[in-house]
Amino acid sequence: MKKINIAIDGPASSGKSTVAKILANDYGFIYTDTGAMYRSVTLMAICSDVAFDDEQGLVSLINNHKISFRQTNQGQLVYIDHVNVTEKIRQPEVTNNVSEVAAHEQVRRKLVEKQQEIASNSGVVMDGRDIGTAVLPNAEVKIFLVASVEERAERRFKENQSKGIPTDFQTLKKEIEHRDQLDSTRKISPLKQANDAIRLDTTGMSIQQVVMNIKKIVDEKVAKSIN
Ligand code: C5P
Repeated sequence: MKKINIAIDGPASSGKSTVAKILANDYGFIYTDTGAMYRSVTLMAICSDVAFDDEQGLVSLINNHKISFRQTNQGQLVYIDHVNVTEKIRQPEVTNNVSEVAAHEQVRRKLVEKQQEIASNSGVVMDGRDIGTAVLPNAEVKIFLVASVEERAERRFKENQSKGIPTDFQTLKKEIEHRDQLDSTRKISPLKQANDAIRLDTTGMSIQQVVMNIKKIVDEKVAKSIN
């Protein structure tokens, strides 16, 4: 498989990371979960008592700590320095505050630099909100995944149930809608479909169907670039 960059954007719980992980594994590419980076900064702020509106404080946390990904048998793990924070960055306190942290221009600038560096050698599947518009504007394939909020909340609800996390469906749905609203209305790099991205509505589709659809798009792109 020719090395290319694949950008996958979309609203919360639209299945981006599940699909991106499968694609990266099948193509032998690097998977980069940019949401995990914003979540890590939010977790650091909580642990260090830095306010979510303290932009300089947040930037200092990024400058003084290393956020990294490690591939293991248990999948991709997220580290802040030498601490495994894979589970911690998914806790509700992080999820409910990450959009405020991610709205700061300087925070985005720092993390986007790191994301661009990761993708500089190509062969990356990167998921987020602004990958196609701001991080990798030259990505060979750009996908914008959407699904009804009802279905997205349903998927997350089932996932939480399978992990034994008690969840109220209506609260979950409201939180997803609220996060989408904050992410799509912020000034810097809001959640938005890139002009050259392909929109895929996954409502009613299985993960395998979504993966197959994207692989078809990738195959066509790669064939065109070779011919
Ligand atoms: O993808 P995930 O839901 O883990 O992302 C968490 C949050 O991080 C998003 O709601 C958004 O506020 C922020 N984010 C972002 N830009 C990205 C990825 C995530 O602003 N590229």
